[in-house]
Amino acid sequence: MSNLNLDTIGFRGRLLEEELLARHTSLKVGGPAELFAIPEDEQDLLTLVHWLDRQKIPRFVIGGGYNLLVRDGGVRGAVISLERFTRIQQINPPHGLVRAEAGADNLAVVRYAQEVGLGGIGFIAGIPGTGGGAVKMNAGAYGSGVLQRTRSLTLLREGKIADHFMSELEYGYRRLALLPGDIILAALFFLEGKDPAETEEEIRKDLELRRSKHSVGYPSAGSFFKNPPGQAAWRLIDQAELRGEQIGGAQVSELHSNFLINRGGASASDFLRLAVLVKERVKSVTGVELEEEVRVVGEGRSDDSRG
Ligand SMILES: Cc1cc2nc3c(=O)[nH]c(=O)nc-3n(C[C@H](O)[C@H](O)[C@H](O)COP(=O)(O)OP(=O)(O)OC[C@H]3O[C@@H](n4cnc5c(N)ncnc54)[C@H](O)[C@@H]3O)c2cc1C
Repeated sequence: MSNLNLDTIGFRGRLLEEELLARHTSLKVGGPAELFAIPEDEQDLLTLVHWLDRQKIPRFVIGGGYNLLVRDGGVRGAVISLERFTRIQQINPPHGLVRAEAGADNLAVVRYAQEVGLGGIGFIAGIPGTGGGAVKMNAGAYGSGVLQRTRSLTLLREGKIADHFMSELEYGYRRLALLPGDIILAALFFLEGKDPAETEEEIRKDLELRRSKHSVGYPSAGSFFKNPPGQAAWRLIDQAELRGEQIGGAQVSELHSNFLINRGGASASDFLRLAVLVKERVKSVTGVELEEEVRVVGEGRSDDSRG
């Protein structure tokens, strides 16, 4: 990035230039980020964000990259990773409040709660990713979403860090509406007293179910499409006889038809073309319009007229 001057911005974290995002996404596709930044702490993040905003450099926060399809042309501007923000703590015990920073792993949050005798959030144990990604996606399973257990979020919004109650925010199935540029710094979960042995059993069952249902043997981003109201996306894809359909290295998994997988050497463009094919065929066979659950970001390659 031409106007990057490490010395003058006083940033203490790590900065990588032209970092390939395929290395940071579970689909293993995606071009480079002009800048990939890993701030040390909150102050460092503020320094970075203020500098980027002053320079009018676009920015985007990545969590674990488990729900991201990054286009082959990569991401213009900066990708920010909060992987150093991993603190989990109990607030005002014994009131069942656990605060997790945005970079904390979902399973680590469930394990922490278990250790202090709290539960009610076990359904996120097997969802790969970070607290920030889980909150932004309202990640969930078995009919529950993580925001049902969230009291408030700490957001960096318009240059200021403040707590926002969920009642002030709009959210729904696999979505949380934030303002452009908002960064989730932490979530405060309200939990209930639970015997650690019971949580252990809940985690064990969840991981076992996922091993049997979600082990597709190839890189994926989990469910590619949202379930339309009252319907299962996988069933609609099956009705359209798309199981095993392949474009380039991207394939509709034979084992779970709502998982698009990287059979090796796939490009983002392969996935995008396959997604278009799935949506068109499902619409013509069933009349239902599927919507991506996976977030598509970045730029198409200049030589790629299809992506
Ligand atoms: C095998 C497999 C199984 C899965 N099973 C499930 C499941 O059962 N249920 C489910 O809901 N999902 C599931 N997923 C999808 C994925 O795990 C979830 O969406 C997860 O919450 C994504 O978290 P992440 O940290 O990887 O976020 P990312 O994929 O990195 O990012 C997702 C979105 O969140 C935004 N974001 C991330 N962190 C922040 C932040 N701090 N501030 C602002 N925005 C942020 C990103 O910009 C992006 O828009 C599965 C994925 C895989 C690969």
